[in-house]
Amino acid sequence: MDNRSPAIFVGDALGLDFLNSVATPVDTPIDWIENGEGLLCWLEQAGLVPRETLEAMRVQALPGELDKIADQARNLREWFRIFVREHKGRPLTADALGELEPLNRLIERDEGYSRIAPRQAETGEGLELQPMRKWRSPEALLLPIGEALARFVCTEDFSDVRACEGSTCTLLFADHTRGHRRRWCSMAMCGNRAKQAAHRHRRKRSN
Ligand SMILES: [Zn+2]
Repeated sequence: MDNRSPAIFVGDALGLDFLNSVATPVDTPIDWIENGEGLLCWLEQAGLVPRETLEAMRVQALPGELDKIADQARNLREWFRIFVREHKGRPLTADALGELEPLNRLIERDEGYSRIAPRQAETGEGLELQPMRKWRSPEALLLPIGEALARFVCTEDFSDVRACEGSTCTLLFADHTRGHRRRWCSMAMCGNRAKQAAHRHRRKRSN
């Protein structure tokens, strides 16, 4: 597994999936955005940037330019991780606004506009207004991430934000289950590992 293998989307919130873009699925840490190409792949998997735009960036970028943007994306990610770690487990209040200033500064650079287009939903006919964005430079690749993080802090109940209970797992998720009892990033990864450990523990005790 490397950063070309599918990224992890278990956070149930894009803001957390961005933090989960560095993780240790088996025993070696993988950073899906360790370089420019990784960033493009992650953005495509996250559905944040149209494929044609990514392709154009790939072709037009100067050598090293996208790697530099990936550096900035990782800085943004680790800054946001500190924020989420500090505030998770209880509702976010307006007191946090000061800390979020760097994020406001990022998204104010966004050049969004709307376009009248054919309705995309299969059932509907007619027209719809689609949100668009001007992609003037590779730096613009950070803007949909910034928007996702901003949306996350404005819409997610931080009481539901949890860290996976897997002993070596770093993955974060929003617990949207009805009973709020989600403990694992996924059953396939940490859930099963914990079940097997509990089983071994029980067997040892009964021997
Ligand atoms: Zn886990």
